[in-house]
Amino acid sequence: MSVLDVRHLNVRIPTEDGVIHAVRDVSFSVDSGDFFGIVGESGSGKSVLVQAIMGLIPGARITGEVWFDGHDLLTMKPDALRKIRGRAISMIFQDPLSSLHPQFTIGWQIVEQIRTHRKVSRAEARRMTVEILGKVGIPDPDTRFSAYPHQFSGGMRQRVMIAMALVLNPALIIADEPTTALDSTVQAQILDLLHEMREEFDATILMITHDLTVLARVADNMMVMYAGHKLEAGPARELFARPAHPYTSGLLRSSPGNYEPGTPLVPIPGKPPSLLNPVTGCVFAPRCPDAMSKCWSETPPLRTYSNGLETSCWLTEAPSEPEASEEMQDVSTLPITVLNPNTTELATPIVQINDLELSFRSKRGRTSVDVLRGIDLAIFRGETLGLVGESGCGKSTLARVIAGLIPATGGKVHLAGHDLSTVNHEQWRSLRREVQLVFQDPYGSLNPRRRVGSIIGDPFRIHRISSGEKRKKSVQQLMELVGLNPEHYNRFPSQFSGGQRQRIGIARALALNPSIIIYDEPVSALDVSIQAQVLNLMSSLQKEFNLTYLFISHDLAVVRHVCDRIAVMDKGKIVELAATEQLYADPQHDFTKVLLEASAPEEKPQSRAFPELLSTVHAGDLTAGDLIAGGVR
Ligand code: SF4
Repeated sequence: MSVLDVRHLNVRIPTEDGVIHAVRDVSFSVDSGDFFGIVGESGSGKSVLVQAIMGLIPGARITGEVWFDGHDLLTMKPDALRKIRGRAISMIFQDPLSSLHPQFTIGWQIVEQIRTHRKVSRAEARRMTVEILGKVGIPDPDTRFSAYPHQFSGGMRQRVMIAMALVLNPALIIADEPTTALDSTVQAQILDLLHEMREEFDATILMITHDLTVLARVADNMMVMYAGHKLEAGPARELFARPAHPYTSGLLRSSPGNYEPGTPLVPIPGKPPSLLNPVTGCVFAPRCPDAMSKCWSETPPLRTYSNGLETSCWLTEAPSEPEASEEMQDVSTLPITVLNPNTTELATPIVQINDLELSFRSKRGRTSVDVLRGIDLAIFRGETLGLVGESGCGKSTLARVIAGLIPATGGKVHLAGHDLSTVNHEQWRSLRREVQLVFQDPYGSLNPRRRVGSIIGDPFRIHRISSGEKRKKSVQQLMELVGLNPEHYNRFPSQFSGGQRQRIGIARALALNPSIIIYDEPVSALDVSIQAQVLNLMSSLQKEFNLTYLFISHDLAVVRHVCDRIAVMDKGKIVELAATEQLYADPQHDFTKVLLEASAPEEKPQSRAFPELLSTVHAGDLTAGDLIAGGVR
């Protein structure tokens, strides 16, 4: 029995640039007790879709039907809809810190949620709150009832959000990227918790995410969205094992977990289309390796296969598997030096750290916190060293000490043979070019008011290396090297996509031919297909210029793919350091074992046989009931 039936949903949002058609004729149903996932890249319309279902987009023009508990939510009055929200349908948001009110205790917030929707005494609401906090794994719930959100870790805050979503036993829980902001171990715990709570409360869960690996772990059924369209839907296991749509196949191909470590990834070329424009033919045609002439002019039909998949595509056989290709520029004219790996002294560490300590003292010096404790580490030329661990373990702080941004309080850091604790200001100025950083957030790390040519040219200007036309030429060569159009020299960062902005950061880092580049979560803010493009670029640049990377990430699939060795950090210490495959094959430390277990991929079906085509419905023939009748289940 369906808990939620969405029929021919269209969402149009008026903006200054025109009307964004964010969701286009999407139909699906979620059965009672189902764990239903919606996956798609940024801008695919998945968040807009659930917000439209919940009546949370003021000013949007929404058409279609959304049936829940015998009511079409789209025709309900705001007051009636408000009663359903929170009681019968609840939501878990991506960022629990901003979703919880910082000035109220978590107990008070859950009690208010209960008393808004149910007539119960304050004492009874408190009892319910303590009970649900215990069930979601908050230790000592009676005492923690009075704690404030900032007194909880990210994972614990998300548990509180789940408790809040479950406390009224809703028929449907909508989870919007509930694990995106969490470390892999905490992410695994939260996914397991959602799974357990689904069983215990007999709840139905609709989860949206950009991360396919998350759904592989928990979803029964799922839908793939792209540029506002539903492209494929069906049982999750089948969709992962034998995707019938080239876009789903491309998303899976982009994921580092599906490759031998170190081999080039095969990203989906190009980028999603603007949602301002009408679409003729297949919306995915410009990026599709299987596109045929009719794909450009005729809307593909909805096809149903014997394994339960519904696919909007003209293909009747398995999508093709494009080969990886490594495109490199002619590097002879570039402003950075090409090192010959054969002549490089691989045994010389670029960075040598001995017994490093870092403590932060309170203003009055009465208390101190040990952030880095007794770290010994060497990073060698030409290698990629991965640094993994949970949030707050000291990874980024260690990177900042290596970059000279924070002075150590004990021990030694040698960078390119120089002891950082003894260099004077002038020496440091020239030494600074040896280490460059690429940051996680490609939006926040570029000044939005400056043109990219000027941003990439900063290192040449600061270190007085070149000026005028010569500098412009060097910058344009760097832009070309990282796959940016040199003609976009005068554009602003806002005119580039997330992946392109990360390329700008890499170009800037390369400008001074540094001894080491520190990547601090460089791809965690990117969609999987863009992530694959950036990882390929980093890898080909490293091979070409024999670069040395320190790669910080909480995504162990990415780390395994790109790193030669991995250092595992826990509570300010390096608890294990080993060659990548050795670490995965035979982890020694308990913490490493927990990390690897949390990121282990689910077992996938072995058979790759393409299923039989059962039926075809042409887009023009569809009626409201067709998609539900031939729906996901
Ligand atoms: Fe590719 Fe054509 Fe299928 Fe679209 S309809 S996904 S362009 S093969």
